[in-house]
Amino acid sequence: MKDELPDLRAMTLADAEAFAIAQGWPRFRGEQVWRWVHDRGARDFDEMTNLPREVRAELAARARVGSLAVAEVQTSRDGTRKLRLTTRDGKSIESVIIPDGDKTTQCISSQVGCAIDCQFCATAKLGLVRNLDAGEIVDQVYIARRLLHDVEPGRRITNLVYMGMGEPLHNYDNVVRSLRILTDDKGAGLSQRRITVSTAGLVPRLEKLGGEDVRPNLAVSLNAPNDEIRDAIMPINRKWNIAALLAALRAYPLEQRRRITFEYVLLAGVNDSLRDAAQLAKLLRGVKCKVNLIPWNPHPEAPYQRPAPAVIDAFQAECKRLGLPTYLRTPRGDDIDAACGQLANRSNGVPLVPLRVRGRAGNITTE
Ligand code: SAH
Repeated sequence: MKDELPDLRAMTLADAEAFAIAQGWPRFRGEQVWRWVHDRGARDFDEMTNLPREVRAELAARARVGSLAVAEVQTSRDGTRKLRLTTRDGKSIESVIIPDGDKTTQCISSQVGCAIDCQFCATAKLGLVRNLDAGEIVDQVYIARRLLHDVEPGRRITNLVYMGMGEPLHNYDNVVRSLRILTDDKGAGLSQRRITVSTAGLVPRLEKLGGEDVRPNLAVSLNAPNDEIRDAIMPINRKWNIAALLAALRAYPLEQRRRITFEYVLLAGVNDSLRDAAQLAKLLRGVKCKVNLIPWNPHPEAPYQRPAPAVIDAFQAECKRLGLPTYLRTPRGDDIDAACGQLANRSNGVPLVPLRVRGRAGNITTE
């Protein structure tokens, strides 16, 4: 939105200090306010109790804090929580909190909708509505921290995955900025080793990410053992094929002892044969990686099916037999449509089928 006050949530610490100086305030005031927002999770200037009242009033006139409102929280029988959050311009996004023993992983969104058009994904059906700004990305984490504090004190977000709605590398600048903010020790202080950015494979952006000072873990949605299958289910493969993708990944400056995660959505009769498994193992030979198999999670808009359990097991066994470390992801929160690929709330006012001809006059409704 134009002419809005700057959002403290979208600022790095350095931005906040520069902001303070530009207002004619001492630099330390920038850090003080930034810590309130990014470490202590203040959502309102009145919470900043160590600031004199006049300073709080002045701040409120020149900046704002945060932007997302909690519209709905759904809790799955397995303890997974899905948050529906509303932006200031009335868009909805979703974020998922997944408890797993001592670990708690939050899955966050980077865009409203998505432009990549993977054929099996519910978010794709929304098309791209807009990018989230850095403040909207980090705010998902702060909201989740608050929620956990209230409903399950003692449980904290330990891991973060950029695997919600959207393609993170398609919203590159805001995503990198959000990583800088969230990993700052003076703020949320999340370890970059516990953050994973997942991409459908935007090759030039992968190359760029390798040159950044923040180094999250990398997950790549491969989903196919060859170009023929990948072209059919992920149109982005026609732009950057598997060879281009693997070349970029081989050149990616991986930190010591880290490996790339490949996600592989299992679609019955499409990419789940033993031949596919063997081809996958061969393709990834020599790449420092592991594979996460994700049995397809159903949603009404796609013509796919989840393979039978025996097929899934055989696929995994074949990969392992050929030396590829392969793990099976159990769906979490699927009873509340919170599992991978099911995030596509219907509240954005866009039809789920992006292009539809309606009525005799043939009106075309698009997002
Ligand atoms: N755009 C990014 C991150 C979002 S998708 C990316 O492509 O990686 C997160 C993961 O969910 C991807 O690996 C994707 O392949 C997978 N996925 C999408 N739809 C799915 C579905 N219906 N069932 C299971 N996994 C799905």
